[in-house]
Amino acid sequence: MWRSILKENFHNISKLLDYLELSPENREKVLTKSSFVLNVPKRLAQKIKKNDITDPLFLQFVPLKEEDVLGFSKDPLKEIEFQETEKLLSKYPSRSLIITTSACAMNCRFCFRRNFPYETERKDFNKELDLLKNDSNIKEVILSGGDPLALSDDRLFELLKEIDSISHVERIRFHTRFQIGIPERITLDLVNNLKQIKKAIWWVIHVNHPLEIDSEVEASIKSLKSAGVSVLSQTVFLKGVNDSEETLEALLVKLSNSGVQPYYLHQLDQVEGTNHFEALPEKGIEILENLSNRLSGFMIPRFVKEIPHKPKKSPLKPYF
Ligand code: SF4
Repeated sequence: MWRSILKENFHNISKLLDYLELSPENREKVLTKSSFVLNVPKRLAQKIKKNDITDPLFLQFVPLKEEDVLGFSKDPLKEIEFQETEKLLSKYPSRSLIITTSACAMNCRFCFRRNFPYETERKDFNKELDLLKNDSNIKEVILSGGDPLALSDDRLFELLKEIDSISHVERIRFHTRFQIGIPERITLDLVNNLKQIKKAIWWVIHVNHPLEIDSEVEASIKSLKSAGVSVLSQTVFLKGVNDSEETLEALLVKLSNSGVQPYYLHQLDQVEGTNHFEALPEKGIEILENLSNRLSGFMIPRFVKEIPHKPKKSPLKPYF
């Protein structure tokens, strides 16, 4: 069923702009051709206010001409330097990350992997699994992409079972934004299959605005938690989207009330085409300081920036 919902995504910019009832004046501001293709789930398009190019979901998923501004770089995190294979990145001690697929439920305009050289021919993970099996220092395997939930259940659980059988691996971590775009992806089958995995599963939802969380997303989180999965969140600090105290507070409250622990607030990775999303880190620090004065400590995420070759994410402010 989720596959047929995915097929309803908008990929054609004219159709999307018609759907959003954009005025000719606003259409002028939209980038109509981009190598990073348009991909917007219908349910997210339905949440966008008509003819409003400042809507926080519009900004995240619809390309504006500002993307054509030069500056920043194609691979600010130097991920290419951490590739052990086309699909395995080892950035930090004891952890390895599998690029499971290039596919996502939605294409976010600020994506730091929008230029990543995805391997799309080879479907198996044999090379990656061999490396993981032969390195007993690896305690945690991170499933990323793209989005691991874009894989079919068969492929996903074949991979998961292989990882689960590696004795020195202790934890498996998912990074996903799928359930924000297509919460129907969290099926009963998926949850039941997760229950069969013996290793601890940590599940990080990428979510940037309170509008992204609705009753269906909340139900999908509940369902995951019923499988004993620990659910965290990660948010990119984005100008015009969530760089206000009011918005971040609403997001953190919604997440915490859904049983999700806010984990990271990320300063934007400076990838080409995303200059217009960059908010000042000082603003983020001030917002979190203010929020920490009135929210419980566990509701405040760590504000961090990724600096290539550092052994961990760099805190922009000592943790609150
Ligand atoms: S879901 Fe994640 S990987 Fe996919 S486009 Fe959005 S930010 Fe990038």
